Amino acid sequence: MKAVLFEKSGLENLKVSEVKDPEPGPHEVVLRVIESGVNPIDYFVVVGIPVKPVPHIPGAEVYGEVEKVGDHVKNFKPGDKVIVYNRVFDGTCDMCIRGEEMLCRNGGIMSLITQGGWAEKFVVPEKNLVKVNLDPRLAASLPVAALTSYHALKETGVGLGKVVVVFGASGNTGMFAVQLAKRMGAKVVAVSRKGWLREYGADELAEISNVRQVVEKVSNGRMADVVINSMGAGAWDASLSVLGTKGKLALFGTLTGNEVKVDLSRIYSSHAEIVGTTGGSRAELMELAGLCSDCKVKVYKEYSLEESVEALKALNSQGRDGRVMLKIS
Ligand SMILES: [Zn+2]
Repeated sequence: MKAVLFEKSGLENLKVSEVKDPEPGPHEVVLRVIESGVNPIDYFVVVGIPVKPVPHIPGAEVYGEVEKVGDHVKNFKPGDKVIVYNRVFDGTCDMCIRGEEMLCRNGGIMSLITQGGWAEKFVVPEKNLVKVNLDPRLAASLPVAALTSYHALKETGVGLGKVVVVFGASGNTGMFAVQLAKRMGAKVVAVSRKGWLREYGADELAEISNVRQVVEKVSNGRMADVVINSMGAGAWDASLSVLGTKGKLALFGTLTGNEVKVDLSRIYSSHAEIVGTTGGSRAELMELAGLCSDCKVKVYKEYSLEESVEALKALNSQGRDGRVMLKIS
């Protein structure tokens, strides 16, 4: 099969090679990969986070069709369309038993500690698959982009009438945070200049420079119940400035930097909470396949497997408006 591979870190070392087709173990499934979302994690895998095995195949967010199943696979058959829950988990530790497989004591992220899915075929355990019947680009956006946002919204108690402010609203996770918060009954302020976010469920658009005034108006002065900051330091001061009494600020990305100053009195005097989240659970991914079945995906550009370097460059391009995708078959 064809796969995108590198032996040494660096975009310049990424190339398409012919490698041996994977065979499924007893509890595994081989997928024909159809589509993959391109995420910052893929970029960091290629440019330098330690990964194994080497030579390495990146690709964290995968949608495909079951091609071959191992002898003990019970719930899937060739032809099923599936998305891949991209955490390695043992199913036996305290976190897994609580249904928080993304925090497994003996786990990790597929495409970091295993091969990823930027290949014609991808072998994964049956327990990592969720059946879907969705548009390929949407399906390939659920395992990372949508799941990360959904988990953060649940973890911060988003529900009917809550005021949710999403920084980085037009980004991979942001466009799903807006849509899902709306579906969960919230009033949504999207911090972005992109008008299309109104069609995605944003009640108001704001910019960092006027977000305080917009949130004040939307919340009748009470400010935000939940703030989603997927950007890190660049949106930190603005994130804190709109957080209301007992508000929760969720963090899951640091593309604009990871060091900030915090006025501790601002946190305790308002009973605010800063909540770190990463990914989501298997159950949440399954819920998303239904809850988000009519979600929209803004696609900026779709590339082929051979163009994976261009795809990773596009991810960081100034003019990017929407997701970068790889169409694999
Ligand atoms: Zn575990």
